[in-house]
Formats: sequence, C-alpha cells, structure tokens
Amino acid sequence: MRPLADYHTHTRWSHASGSVEDNLRAAEAIGLEAVGIAEHGPRLLFIGVSRRRWPVLAERVAATETSATQLFFNAEANVISLEGDIDLPPNMMDRLDMLLVGLHPQVIPKGLEDWYAYYGLRWLSLLSRRQRHKLFDAYTQALINCVERHPVKIIVHPGYRLPIDSAALAAACAKKGVRLEINCRHLDAIARDISKAARTSQVEFVISSDAHHPREIGRFQRGCSLVDSLGIDRARIINVDWQEKTR
Ligand SMILES: [Zn+2]
Ligand SMILES: [Zn+2]
Repeated sequence: MRPLADYHTHTRWSHASGSVEDNLRAAEAIGLEAVGIAEHGPRLLFIGVSRRRWPVLAERVAATETSATQLFFNAEANVISLEGDIDLPPNMMDRLDMLLVGLHPQVIPKGLEDWYAYYGLRWLSLLSRRQRHKLFDAYTQALINCVERHPVKIIVHPGYRLPIDSAALAAACAKKGVRLEINCRHLDAIARDISKAARTSQVEFVISSDAHHPREIGRFQRGCSLVDSLGIDRARIINVDWQEKTR
C-alpha cells in the first residue's frame, strides 16, 4: 500500500506544530504526489484561521516552492447553519484547490436557530430521545444542504462527535461526486458511519491523516486496515495505491 496524496493536514496556522514548508518536505520525503494544507475556517472557536489571515495563508502556500510533490491550498470549513452555510471567507473560495467541510461542535453558528441547534438542542438531546432524533435530522440535512450548495470535494470525519444519518449523507455525496473521508485521527469515532456509508451507497472515499505534526503525514495504515476489515472494495479509495509496497 502506498498513499498517493494526503489532502487534510494542519500547520501552526491553526493548532498544529509544523509550518507549510515542513508539511511539504515531509510529504516529499515519503513520495506523496500531493499534500493539502487544510486549515480550519474562522468560526471554529480558538483554533480557526481568522478571516484577516486567510489571504496571508493563501499567499504563503502559493509562494512555497515545490518540486516532486504538489502543494494544495485546501480548507477545512465549518458548517455554521442548518441551511448549510460555511464559514470560509467568500474571496477565498476561488483560490482553493479543494474545499473540505465538516461538522464541528465548537463553532460560532450563524443565526439564532443555528445557535439553538448547536448548543440548546444538543444539550436537550442528552435528555430526550425525541430531541436526539431532531438533532440527528438537523445535522444530516445541514451537511446535505452544504454538499448541494457549495463546491465541496470531501466531507471530513462523517459522524465524528455530532450524530448524522451517514446513509443519507453518503447517497447525497455519491450523487454529487463528493468523497467521504476516512480520517485516521478520529478513526474509531467514525468507523460505524464509514461502514454504513459503504454498505448503503456507491460513495467513494479518501483516506487522510488529519496530521497535526509533519511526521504524521501520509500515515494511512489504520485507515487502510479499516477498509479491509469492513470489506470495502479497495477501488473506492481514490488516494491509495494498493499494489505498491509502503516506502
Ligand atoms: Zn475536523
Ligand atoms: Zn482537521
């Protein structure tokens, strides 16, 4: 097995420990064809890259000299409303190589109804099953709206920390050619959703490290093992060469 590309990695621009250059060099060292810098959108509390700093980050990525490994300017945007709004500054959308989107619990939601869904309803869902179902439906629909409204390439860690109907999401993604992420950092939390998505749809997957240190880039072993243990057809994973030996 050889990882071909790692589209989801972090740097010091958010809360990880390497620089853009460090991530690129680490990816080159293991022979990746591409590595993506995918920082958090501005409305992720304490961690997101601010609106003001996004253009500076874009410049930094563009100015980084590459050789064998391509460097992608990606983003891990947050869903901030039930309608599927995301928190990426609009002037950044055209500059991105890939838009990755995920549901994260600690965001600054858009409207009042969204504040309620993110915090009030979440709290209530601990108490009652009815509220739990409401929450489940609301989050699922928010992600589906997002896939339908924006040029999303990958939904990251589906099912991580916020419950969703992964079968419904996978069906929407399959229709739009959006991939679901097998995130090696949060693998245990998403394994059930990945299994359900694979069983109920033809959706394709990417494996990512979600690296918070350059040495984690391209570490796909756990993700690959999950694919095999769930019996997912390897051809559905778009960024792994299964024939080649690990370097
Ligand atoms: Zn994330
Ligand atoms: Zn991430």
